Amino acid sequence: MRIPCRACGKRVETREDVPLPPYFPFCSERCRLVDLGKWFNEEFRVGRAVEPKDLGADPDEGLRSD
Ligand SMILES: [Zn+2]
Repeated sequence: MRIPCRACGKRVETREDVPLPPYFPFCSERCRLVDLGKWFNEEFRVGRAVEPKDLGADPDEGLRSD
């Protein structure tokens, strides 16, 4: 069975009589770390993003004219 590496798309050969490598489903340890780093960076960015509502300000509040 061949599984495409989730980071670079390279086919990873898997066999029933051979234990899966620790970096599966990636082709190598390096690709595993690349993918993990990608996810980490994305979460980091989302966690750092500050929006007006985070500060308690309601964007709709200022639009009311009555
Ligand atoms: Zn890879």
